[in-house]
Amino acid sequence: MSQPAAELTIAELQRQFRAGDRSPREAVEQVLAAIDARDRDLGGYLSVDAESALAAADAADVSLPLGGVPIAIKDLINVEGQPCSCASKLLDGGYTSPYDATAIARLKAAGAIPLGRTNMDEFAMGSSTENSGLQVTRNPHDPERIPGGSSGGSAAVVAANTAVAALGTDTGGSVRQPAAHCGCVGLKPSYGRVSRFGLVAYASSLDQIGPLTKTSHDAALLLEAIAGGDPLDSTCLDAAVPKYTDALTGDLSGVRVGLPKQYFGDGIEAGVRSSVEAALGQLEALGATLVELELPHTEYAVATYYIIATAEASANLARFDGVRYGNRASDPENIIDQYRRTRGAGFGPEVKRRIILGTYVLSSGYQDQFYLRAQKVRSLIRRDFAEAFEKVDVIASPTAPTPAFRIGEKSGDPLQMYLADIYTIAANLAGICGVSTPCGTVRSDTGTDLPVGLQILGPALGEAKILRVTDAYERSRA
Ligand code: GLN
Repeated sequence: MSQPAAELTIAELQRQFRAGDRSPREAVEQVLAAIDARDRDLGGYLSVDAESALAAADAADVSLPLGGVPIAIKDLINVEGQPCSCASKLLDGGYTSPYDATAIARLKAAGAIPLGRTNMDEFAMGSSTENSGLQVTRNPHDPERIPGGSSGGSAAVVAANTAVAALGTDTGGSVRQPAAHCGCVGLKPSYGRVSRFGLVAYASSLDQIGPLTKTSHDAALLLEAIAGGDPLDSTCLDAAVPKYTDALTGDLSGVRVGLPKQYFGDGIEAGVRSSVEAALGQLEALGATLVELELPHTEYAVATYYIIATAEASANLARFDGVRYGNRASDPENIIDQYRRTRGAGFGPEVKRRIILGTYVLSSGYQDQFYLRAQKVRSLIRRDFAEAFEKVDVIASPTAPTPAFRIGEKSGDPLQMYLADIYTIAANLAGICGVSTPCGTVRSDTGTDLPVGLQILGPALGEAKILRVTDAYERSRA
């Protein structure tokens, strides 16, 4: 019997569709069967719209770039007619999207089929998917461990072969870090590369939609479909969208890879370090040159991020007041009582913590001390990268300092959780692009093999450069 569709790459599915070896309907049925068989234990999906996916499959035009390819969608990107809960009790069961996000409209125009909504940290706030207000998602390599976050559902379903590919969002690492923990590819495009219209906003100056896939080649295919200017998002860049797959030559000669001293210091688990070092050796063997460099303001990135992200979140989440969106407290005494009880019952503890923190750093008297200062440090971090990219083409590092941790291990200690994103956050502050690709495994104390991620960062609009590197690396290991 041929391999079930959910185990295939987009590229292989397309080839089979066009050769008539498999129909989009068969592919969607096989993905639905895989979900039925395995998602109960994994918890990757919040909902699946089988009926509309099958209807779209029957109507699919396989000559389109993504014709007939089913894609899982993180539950904060609007798909018309489907729920969009952001894994929050505030919206769950009470909100259906009236329109498509631009990224979804583009996926559909390219022939893809949005199939199923994936679990996440509530409103994308977290690094383990444990902050979901709705359910637990497990790491497909070890059910006692987290899948990473906040796009943990999207990473888990791709890695578990219950999806061909998925979309997630990355505000401080939420595509790359779960990709690293689950063993798939995760791409954060440069800020403005993909429209944010129809993406429920967490931190608007940092958020980007990005693909989670089995290969960098698939990430390039998805990015080609969803990238490009959009009059509905004024921060979206009008720059032409290259054919990213053309850049995937398999050869790295002449590519200068920067190794920032600050990303290889203490705090990296030994197994992660050795996997990443082996991958760097492989990049050299493929023709790349390794260059040591400094990103001097790295140590301030996490603190800066948690001021800017929470400030923006406190403003963005003000709209969830029980008036327009989602669930409302019953029998309120007055409007203030309605706000208070709707938000009190609807938001989980981490979301409340962030709203309070964000409101505090923006409050008069503290704004200069925290928010404005963070903006200045953000400029310094951006400048560090600009200077680095004068010397090198891309930058390499671990994606996360440790492999996936145990469910519950860090949930009582927000600071420890925040440090899980130490290598991913600066890219969002600087607006540059980054990708994580699997580079080996570490044996856990219970004998499971946990994936490690190699992160490659590139300058703004440098997606072709970073995908060239990770694609060449993946091919050399295949
Ligand atoms: N873990 C980070 C946070 O909690 C990043 C989340 C994200 O990228 N959405 O904010």
